Amino acid sequence: MDFSGFYKLPVKDRLAKLREAGKISAEDEKVLLDGDALKMEVADRMVENVVGRFHLPFAVVPGFVVNGKEYVVPMVVEEPSVVAGSANAAKSARESGGFTADADEPIMVGQLQIMNPKSGALAKLEENREKIFAKGKEFAVGVERYGGGLKEIRFREVKTSRGKMVLIEFDVDVRDIMGANTVNTIVEGTAPLAQEIIGGTVRLRILSNLAIKRKARAKCTWKKEVIGEAAVEGVLDGYEMAANDVYRCSTHNKGIMNGIDAVAVATGNDWRAVEAGAHSFAAMGGYHPLTKFYKDANGNLVGEIELPLAVGTVGGAININPLAQIGQKILGAKSARELSMVMAAVGLAQNFAALRALGMEGISQGHMKLHAKNLAVIAGAHTFEEIDKVTEKMKASGVYTVENAKKIFEGMKRGSK
Ligand code: NAD
Repeated sequence: MDFSGFYKLPVKDRLAKLREAGKISAEDEKVLLDGDALKMEVADRMVENVVGRFHLPFAVVPGFVVNGKEYVVPMVVEEPSVVAGSANAAKSARESGGFTADADEPIMVGQLQIMNPKSGALAKLEENREKIFAKGKEFAVGVERYGGGLKEIRFREVKTSRGKMVLIEFDVDVRDIMGANTVNTIVEGTAPLAQEIIGGTVRLRILSNLAIKRKARAKCTWKKEVIGEAAVEGVLDGYEMAANDVYRCSTHNKGIMNGIDAVAVATGNDWRAVEAGAHSFAAMGGYHPLTKFYKDANGNLVGEIELPLAVGTVGGAININPLAQIGQKILGAKSARELSMVMAAVGLAQNFAALRALGMEGISQGHMKLHAKNLAVIAGAHTFEEIDKVTEKMKASGVYTVENAKKIFEGMKRGSK
């Protein structure tokens, strides 16, 4: 399917293209156009104290080639230039052969904390390993049905300022769900037996968002003929700044998450869990960039990314929010692993786009050009015609500020009187 010029089309025609490509149905198209897709009564059951629903733009980036398969990637984000950056990077990646990606099995870790147990707790737990494992398995039937289940348990002891703490850790294969509720259920269900064995006080029973056993990786070799040698050098210098300076590294990783979070939201995933996993992983062994860039023997730019990605194609809010289901459908991943691979590729693409823009033209110009329409609205422009006129004049002046937008708009109003 040829998506060239997609960004220039009106919304209706973009939807028609998605329909033609078999990504959405006529029903989905209605839901996407309908500002009332998430019904008030559904929203009211999702969280407490609901007083409305909050909208964000839902965009797509066609032409993401990952492991030879072409994806249309849904993104929900309010920040200008994230979608355009992804689209640009996806295009140059595609012209360079696309992304390769892989992901670990979907193993999540749950933790049970018991404070001040009887002495010899670790030995007692070891003696009862099979019994504890069997109890945990009783609560894992939900995922066993889908080929997952409890895989391993571990015991460790930690000295704290409030005494001895025993941690029992559960490795759970959660297949295509994010897994938090499932892991928590297993840990909570096993806690009374563990306490019976070692005494002490049962405290926290919760998964760890550092999904260290559930990492996704992606790689792309951007050909120097495609992006130009200057871009290769620019990206490499920008990467060195992140690798050697924590202030830049924070923003470097934020840029990666611009892409990953946008897909997480569009697919109904828990983006706070994804953020927590990414940053705690980045902090392991000293806070470091989640990507790596280097030159291959032919002078091409190689980019790699690795990070934990606890995301699902079913479960949680995905089953409740109709827009999340459409996001999942557009992306079309057959498993949570496949989804995480595409998300890793999007993170790498986003990072490449940011480094290229920052190292070459500077982010403000490109960013502010895209932001010009928002500035026009802030300045008071309402109709499409007014917004376009203010945007055009701002572009001509090269000054992208609220003050300038206001000045232009006021001038226009005076001129029309
Ligand atoms: P869930 O509880 O909605 O679904 C779990 C069930 O889905 C499983 O028991 C299984 O029976 C079923 N299922 C259907 N198809 C499946 C498949 N293909 N593979 C595996 N299971 C399948 O979802 P969940 O993923 O356990 O929990 C996710 C939710 O938990 C998210 O909404 C998240 O925000 C929330 N949460 C997060 C945290 C945290 O991150 N710290 C803590 C608590 C809750």
